[in-house]
Amino acid sequence: MRIHLARWIITPDRPPIENGGVATFGGRIVAVGSAAELRRNFHGEVTDHGNAILCPALVNCHCHLELSHLAYRLNPLEQGQKGGFSDWVRKLIRIREQEGCGASREDAVENAMLQMVDNGIAVLGDVGNGDLVPSFVQRTRNHWPLAGIYFKEIIAPINVQQPELPEPRIKRLSSPSAMPFFVAVSAHAPYTVAPNTLKAIDNWNRSAGTPFTIHAAESPDETEFFKSGTGPLRKLVEERGHWPPDWKIPGTSSVQYLESLGCLHEKTVLIHCVQADSEHLDIIAENRATVCLCPGSNRFIGVGKAPSFEMYKRGINIALGTDSLASNRKLSILSEMAQLASDAPALPPEAILKAATAGGARALGHENDFGRLEPGKSALMLLIRGECASAGDALEFTVCQACKDTVNVSLIEG
Ligand SMILES: [Zn+2]
Repeated sequence: MRIHLARWIITPDRPPIENGGVATFGGRIVAVGSAAELRRNFHGEVTDHGNAILCPALVNCHCHLELSHLAYRLNPLEQGQKGGFSDWVRKLIRIREQEGCGASREDAVENAMLQMVDNGIAVLGDVGNGDLVPSFVQRTRNHWPLAGIYFKEIIAPINVQQPELPEPRIKRLSSPSAMPFFVAVSAHAPYTVAPNTLKAIDNWNRSAGTPFTIHAAESPDETEFFKSGTGPLRKLVEERGHWPPDWKIPGTSSVQYLESLGCLHEKTVLIHCVQADSEHLDIIAENRATVCLCPGSNRFIGVGKAPSFEMYKRGINIALGTDSLASNRKLSILSEMAQLASDAPALPPEAILKAATAGGARALGHENDFGRLEPGKSALMLLIRGECASAGDALEFTVCQACKDTVNVSLIEG
C-alpha cells in the first residue's frame, strides 16, 4: 500500500481536494480523499509531494506518430486563408512522397513518443498508413510506455479498388507486462473513403469493440466540397484522381453525411469538427458521438476555432489531440489545454481538464483504466509542481500554466 499526498488532488469530476491524497495498491487506486482520512484508514509508505497537484495522466486522443520526422518541415498558415487546408495537404503529400524510409524516421517516432511521456501523456490514439509505428511498438514491446490504440488508416476513394479488411479481431502490439496498446482500423475522412468502405470500417470497429475514428468538418474547404462539390478541395481531389466525375455531391455537411451512412454513434470519434454549426452539433449530441479537438493543429493550418463551448453546453463528450508534428510544434496535451482555454475563454477549466483525461479515455475505450482518479483505476498519475492558493488557482494552473517549460511535470507510478 502506498499513499501519495499533495496540496491539491484533481479527480477531475469533483472540486479539487485541498491537502488530499491517493492510496494505491498493486498499480491501482484504492482510495482518494483528504490526507487525514487516508492516513487514518490506510497504512503504507507515505510520499508527501507538498506544493503540487495530482491529477489523472493525460490522454492524447489523436496523433500521427509516423509523421514525426516532418517536424518543422511545414510552416504555420495564416488564419482563414481560403484553400489553406488543401495547400497544406498538397505540401504534406509532396514531402511524404519525396521522403524515403530509414532510421531517421524511427528515431523521430521514438523522440516524439518520449516527448509525450515527458509531458504527462499515458494514453494515445495514433493514426497511420504505414507499418512504421506498429513495427516500432512491437520491437519495443516489453517497455512500450503508452496505453491506447494504433489505427491503421484507410484511404480508399470510390474509384480505386476497395481494401479487404482483416478479421475484426483486436490485436495487442505491446507485451502483457507493458502498457496495453492495440491495433484497429480507421477511415481518413468522408471525402477520401468510399461510402461502402466507411460502413465496412465502422462495422469492423463495432465487431472489435473499438472506436470508429475519422477526420471530419476540419476546414472550410471540406464544407464547400460537401455542400457544392466545388472549391480548393475539389481541385485537390481531382489532381489526385480520387473521385469519379459523376459522383453525386451529398449537398450536406460531412457530419450529416456520416449520420446518413449510420456511422455516427457513441463509439464514433470525430476528429476536429471546427466547421460544425449548431445543427451539426445537435446531431453529434443526439448520436452521443465524441469530438476530438486539436486546437494547436487547427491554429497551425489556420482553419479556425472549433465551437467548443457550444459542444460543452450540449454535453458532447470532448477529447483532446495534438495531431502530428506536421501540423503542430509540440506533442503536448498540456499545450493543447492552454490553447483551448485561450480559444474558448467561456469554457470552465475543469471541462478542459476533463477533455484531456476522462473524455479522451472514454473516446478510446480506456475509461475503465484511465481518465479519473478513483478506486479501481490505474495508479499512473500526473504530478505538477506548483504553489496554488485556492481550488480555482489549482485548476487554472493545471490548464493554462503547466505547459510552460518552467513548470515541472512528471508521471508517477502510484
Ligand atoms: Zn489527424
